[in-house]
Amino acid sequence: MLQGNSRVEDIGVGLIGTGYMGKCHALAWSSVRAVFGDCARPRLVHLAESTPEKAEARASEFGFDRATGDWRRLVEDPEVDVVSVTTPNQFHAEMAIAALEAGKHVWCEKPMAPTLPEAERMLAAARRSGRVTFMGYNYIQNPAFRHIVKLVRDGAIGRLTQVRIEVDEDFMADPEAPFYWKSEASSGHGALDDFAVHALSMLHLVAGRADRVVTDMSKPYADRPTGDGGRRAVETWDIASVLMRLETGVSATLQVNRSAWGRKGRICLQLYGSEGTILFDQERFNEFQLYRARDPKGEQGFVTVLTAPHHPPYDRFCPAPGHGLGFNELKVIECRQLLGRIAGETDCLGYSFEDGIEIERTIDLAARAFGADGWVARR
Ligand code: NAD
Repeated sequence: MLQGNSRVEDIGVGLIGTGYMGKCHALAWSSVRAVFGDCARPRLVHLAESTPEKAEARASEFGFDRATGDWRRLVEDPEVDVVSVTTPNQFHAEMAIAALEAGKHVWCEKPMAPTLPEAERMLAAARRSGRVTFMGYNYIQNPAFRHIVKLVRDGAIGRLTQVRIEVDEDFMADPEAPFYWKSEASSGHGALDDFAVHALSMLHLVAGRADRVVTDMSKPYADRPTGDGGRRAVETWDIASVLMRLETGVSATLQVNRSAWGRKGRICLQLYGSEGTILFDQERFNEFQLYRARDPKGEQGFVTVLTAPHHPPYDRFCPAPGHGLGFNELKVIECRQLLGRIAGETDCLGYSFEDGIEIERTIDLAARAFGADGWVARR
């Protein structure tokens, strides 16, 4: 078993779920050592899926030693040191708590859980276990975003005056898109848990937490086809707008939409300051725009900065500037941060359950504000 502050040579990995994020975690576990070199070597030990057949097939594809249709067997496996939880939201709490109680470290996809009480139980289990927990907030690992945080903290755009974040995709824009787990209330509020958590993971780093919020949410389509000729009422909110006053006094807005035709992976961040502006969009995530008000009047304008080896850890993937990273590589960086935390390193970037709970509390605040029909303050 791994201990903090010790240089570990290898680490046994368990993976629960093999969909979009499960594959992303598997790719990260497979390549993190080759990319970074200075971390434990993951051993792909045990994989769990919803059926034994699916588990066997994915274990063979991904290169795991063992497969099971019962995730509890994976959690009990003594050769597993760390568990990736990549199942739908409603399973996170049960699986993460069981893994922590079995003495495993946990890497959990976002959100922590569909409700704040469940997330609080996850945090309590993490505290009791003393194990490392890590959340799947991959967008903060982007070398461009990391540099933006550094620029803001170094005062490159002066004092922040307003922050705007918009997260938009169109995978639920079609009224005939089938009903699935993201439309069920058991998955959470909807776009708040799906998208706003990512935005908050960025906001908390670059500008701080919300102190007061007011929220509007909507369902663009009342029901969706179930695949058997019927239709089922949509239980979650695919659109949300949150107006925030941050603890620093800065004004911020957050707009999220899972049914925004044409938007494929948009996380548009606008940071306005007393001495400049920074713009970033995840759809072009290998670059950002910087406007400095102190530039000579005749030369003022947005400069586009392409990421390069000067923006760590870009250099670990590629020595050539401007060649760009891909989405899955953000997960490799996240995986390296997790391994660093497990090894006792103190400078790793990422949200444990201890920090991640603040994101869940803001989501809860935003949801309560919608119900309250007005401003609601953090308790
Ligand atoms: P998905 O539907 O593609 O995959 C989920 C997988 O879990 C499926 O393969 C399913 O068979 C499996 N599964 C379901 N119940 C299971 C059980 N009891 N035991 C074992 N396996 C089980 O979903 P997804 O898009 O990968 O989303 C999974 C999680 O990842 C969600 O919490 C989501 O919010 C999060 N997510 C994060 C990001 C990100 O950028 N970090 C992106 C997408 C999704």
